Amino acid sequence: MKKILQDLSKEEIAALVASLGERTFRADQIFLGLMQGKKISELPIPSALRASLLETYEEEPVKIVETLVSREDGTKKFLFALADGNLVEGVFMRNNYGNTQCVSTQVGCRMGCKFCASTLGGRVRDMTAGEILSQVLTVNRAEGGTVKDRAVTNLVLMGSGEPFDNYENVVRFLHNVTAEGGIRIGARNISLSTCGLVPEMRRFASEGIGLNLTVSLHATCDEERARTMPIANKYKISDILDACAYYFEKTGRRYIFEYTLISGENADEAHALALAKLLKGRPCHVNLIRLNEVKERSLKAAAERDARRFLEVLTQQGISATLRRSMGSDIAGACGQLRFSRIFPDGKIP
Ligand code: SAH
Repeated sequence: MKKILQDLSKEEIAALVASLGERTFRADQIFLGLMQGKKISELPIPSALRASLLETYEEEPVKIVETLVSREDGTKKFLFALADGNLVEGVFMRNNYGNTQCVSTQVGCRMGCKFCASTLGGRVRDMTAGEILSQVLTVNRAEGGTVKDRAVTNLVLMGSGEPFDNYENVVRFLHNVTAEGGIRIGARNISLSTCGLVPEMRRFASEGIGLNLTVSLHATCDEERARTMPIANKYKISDILDACAYYFEKTGRRYIFEYTLISGENADEAHALALAKLLKGRPCHVNLIRLNEVKERSLKAAAERDARRFLEVLTQQGISATLRRSMGSDIAGACGQLRFSRIFPDGKIP
């Protein structure tokens, strides 16, 4: 595979352009063109420079090969082909406060959560910073956005993959997507979700990126958590809570817990009370969501009524919480339904 030009920051593109003996303004043209979602062959630069870039860099690191539109809520699911033939999925949702894109950070995932489709085939590979960014640039362009007037205003790193299992690439992506002069999506409009990799959560607190840190909790004690999340055998809930407190101390940002309601597993009133006890007094918010069923898995969603009761108990206990409605479930675009990729070794997408 060739290198990915979108991995580079504006400064790195300037250095590259200088090393090719080109004038400085070419760097601005290249950077702006990439931010507009252009392929290398579409960049407004002399053809010799385009040709020399194409010797080293991928023409189009991420290509939309399929778009599905939800008839229920207009949510779009995109199938992206990477240059090596791997495929990842992403989702675009229009809301009244802006438009949110859900991006993938790895091809597949190795965390093994029992409720999630992304991990069924394991982890195939990490995505590079530029591949992650190109999902945003490509969708922004496809949805009629520009660099100044963006179609994508909010990002959630909640597609396939565990962002903190691909730490360096994800942090590089975050610096580039928030950078001045680029597409510049503000950190406050970005949510990163982790299954709770404690050392990386702590490390991230010092990166100077004040985004919304979201942690997939899904249980109130380690034994129960380990039934659906293998990572619970490695990191304790108490250590996750300490890492969250540290994040708050360093960034001043409150954090969010994801809690997926699974019938017969974690969704009765006793669980709600235990969760409230665990989180009482913490500067956090709880996002409840009913399980989106995955056909390879036997787990069932909690009933709507039980979900509402769970929310009621949390609220009565003074915990800030919301019950999210699922979007895009008719196109398997809802949380936990994004798939691992198929690989086409010859790089040709059928
Ligand atoms: N690996 C990261 C990013 C995934 S984000 C993480 O674990 O947080 C996707 C969110 O959807 C996570 O909170 C995840 O636990 C949740 N999820 C996974 N499968 C789900 C399902 N079938 N129904 C509802 N939520 C699910």
